[in-house]
Amino acid sequence: MERHFTVAIDGPSGAGKSTLAKAVAQKMGALYLDTGAMYRAVGLAALERGTDMADQDQVAGLLESLQVDVRYQDGGQRVYLNGQDVSEAIRQPRVSSAASQVSAVPAVREKLVAMQRQIAQGKSVVMDGRDIGTKVLPDATLKIYLAADLEERARRRHRELRDKGLPDSYEQVRRALEKRDHDDSCRAASPLCQAADAVALDCTRLSQEQTVERVLDLLRQRLGVEA
Ligand code: C5P
Repeated sequence: MERHFTVAIDGPSGAGKSTLAKAVAQKMGALYLDTGAMYRAVGLAALERGTDMADQDQVAGLLESLQVDVRYQDGGQRVYLNGQDVSEAIRQPRVSSAASQVSAVPAVREKLVAMQRQIAQGKSVVMDGRDIGTKVLPDATLKIYLAADLEERARRRHRELRDKGLPDSYEQVRRALEKRDHDDSCRAASPLCQAADAVALDCTRLSQEQTVERVLDLLRQRLGVEA
């Protein structure tokens, strides 16, 4: 078995990338990195400081005063913004849209991609995001492009938000996902797209367990190990 392996999981919002990546990392004893959380931390800072997110220079300026840290505590990833744990605050729907806006700024991507590569260095890691297979880990052992129908993604995300006590309606959630998919796919800097060597997996009709098993099978095949 090769010493280290890397798995890149990309795809549209709400497809279940984080749940999948976390489960695969846990099963295979690898580190899990949710890269979206890092963009969310920058988005949260932009909201708090009233940054004009359409102004790339303003966003780049904001970045200079920000310290984004990823720490692993009690077996999970926590994200810190200038020393403050913002892991829960970044899950608000308004932060999703702010993250998408600031992620279109090249200076933001450069800074966070460099951090992501550094975190992955010398380790087995499973990372999820939008540009992992195309940009962050171009030589990943396995690349997955995880997709699901918009309606199914909206249903899952709506359920998740409702369980957290957030009041957004299904229709609001569906529209926000659709807009984010569009913006993330159409931006100039590292747009969301399937890497040429990624395996496409549509999980609309798969359970979480089935999706995880498919990916574990593929990874074990690549690594030449038995289940
Ligand atoms: O994955 P998550 O939905 O938390 O990501 C929030 C936003 O951050 C995405 O909509 C996308 O705009 C941005 N993002 C990105 N590249 C990544 C991860 C997230 O542009 N690798």
